[in-house]
Amino acid sequence: MSSAPLYKRVLLKASGEALMGSQGFGIDVAVADRIASDIAEARAMGVEVGVVVGGGNIFRGVAVASKGGDRVTGDHMGMLATVINALALATSLRKLDIDTVVLSAIAMPEICESFSQRATLYHLSLGRVVIFAGGTGNPFFTTDSAAALRAAEMGAEAIFKGTQVDGIYSADPKKEPTATRFEKLTHDEVLQKGLAVMDVAAVALARENHIPIIVFSIHEKGGFRDILAGGGRKTVVSD
Ligand code: UDP
Repeated sequence: MSSAPLYKRVLLKASGEALMGSQGFGIDVAVADRIASDIAEARAMGVEVGVVVGGGNIFRGVAVASKGGDRVTGDHMGMLATVINALALATSLRKLDIDTVVLSAIAMPEICESFSQRATLYHLSLGRVVIFAGGTGNPFFTTDSAAALRAAEMGAEAIFKGTQVDGIYSADPKKEPTATRFEKLTHDEVLQKGLAVMDVAAVALARENHIPIIVFSIHEKGGFRDILAGGGRKTVVSD
């Protein structure tokens, strides 16, 4: 595909659930490899890519809180889970010879570099894929909020939110066969209709910074590339 990409710099949000494939827990390496190949295609188009990975396939803080444990400790466990996923995705990208760096919001210098905006811009300028690990580094947040935050910090022109389906629907398309996919929505409409796309804090942060959110299926091979080339199946959330 020779057409110029729609965006030069994007942030991809991949949930932990996406990485686990059909296993029900943990990381399916074949799925991580496939997502890495999609990122490689974006790089081949000259698009600069930052990636925020979730951790829900391994641990969510609320699982501790719901059983009477300390939420903050649970969230620390969840943030560490995102580091495991980030290392897995980085490994898949390096297998494809894609230069990749993991920047963590929680310092762990023996394992990966620490996040800073300056380091992010430096690595992007060298053509590296930057994987943001550790969420925002704070409890009571999600990796969706981390995605909106890092997108703003790296100057991303769009947030690509990879989900289980190919956009935002009027109802859950897995339960309601008549559900229809929205082509376009505004950030305000997503918030007012309470559409479960990203959490409210993430959508509000994207709105404040005028960053479009493109909701697409993370499981559709080549979907990321097709949307960057101006096609593909998606819902675009913008001003
Ligand atoms: N988390 C956190 N702060 C953040 C990001 C994540 O405390 O800034 C914790 C939280 O416990 C969350 C877990 O890490 O449940 C995994 O992140 P998330 O649920 O967003 O992952 P995803 O649903 O995308 O797999």
